[in-house]
Amino acid sequence: KAAAPAPVVIPGRKFFVGGNWKCNGTRDSIKKLVEELNKSVTPEEYLDKRKRKHIIPARINKDYCEVVVTPPFVYIPQVVASIKQEYQVAGQNCWINKGGAFTGETSADMLLDVGCKWVILGHSERRSIIGESDAMIATKTAYALSLGLGVMACIGESIHARETGKTNEVCFGQMQAYLNELKDPKQWAKVVVAYEPVWAIGTGKTATPEQAQDVHAAVRGWLSENVNPKVAEDTRIIYGGSANAANCKALAKMPDIDGFLVGGAALKGEDFTVICMAS
Ligand code: PGA
Repeated sequence: KAAAPAPVVIPGRKFFVGGNWKCNGTRDSIKKLVEELNKSVTPEEYLDKRKRKHIIPARINKDYCEVVVTPPFVYIPQVVASIKQEYQVAGQNCWINKGGAFTGETSADMLLDVGCKWVILGHSERRSIIGESDAMIATKTAYALSLGLGVMACIGESIHARETGKTNEVCFGQMQAYLNELKDPKQWAKVVVAYEPVWAIGTGKTATPEQAQDVHAAVRGWLSENVNPKVAEDTRIIYGGSANAANCKALAKMPDIDGFLVGGAALKGEDFTVICMAS
């Protein structure tokens, strides 16, 4: 029997891509999407082709990229049971603590119980449509982390904030709210910060690589000053907002963009795979 290939160690922050399926799908469409995502070549073929600079149509490799898909709650067990082990599964939200008499809510404990490794918290749709506050999001984050879930912690400014020059102020305020609950720097090890400018989400208007880089660098600077330089260096800061197969490469080239949180394009298996390969 051939020995398993040695893991490839790539220095620096590992590329991270989350697919946020939002409130979309049926059992059938999700079955099809998972089938597309499950199609891939072997790690050896991937490495070989990468050397030869071929374009890889469908390949996820844990050595290069951490990939997390986020189905609606009711489809999580279906996805956990059918998706390849190269993918991790996440919830799109969770309750602030253990649960109990909270009609309609899903606890982080439940996400763990059904096989999730991650959860998205603080998405702008939950902030603006459901009315979740900074403080509530931070409480959820601390609780989810305490159980061992990873958290994709979202931040991002409105168009008004951007146009009035308040982008950093807004993003730093949201970061501070997380920090209020994450007093121990070790807690940041399982946090991926998702910078998602609200004006870019679902609009087809992507931040330019330079606009995104500016905010990512500023947030990393903020982490350095307010948590510590090591956490700043190690924390993945991913970009979300109309990321797609066509624009992901240019964004991924930026030094402080460590991956993506993808909405619309995550519902198309091939496009999502291209985004996962953008590093
Ligand atoms: P989008 O969504 O890619 O459809 O803009 C991103 C997100 O909301 O996470």
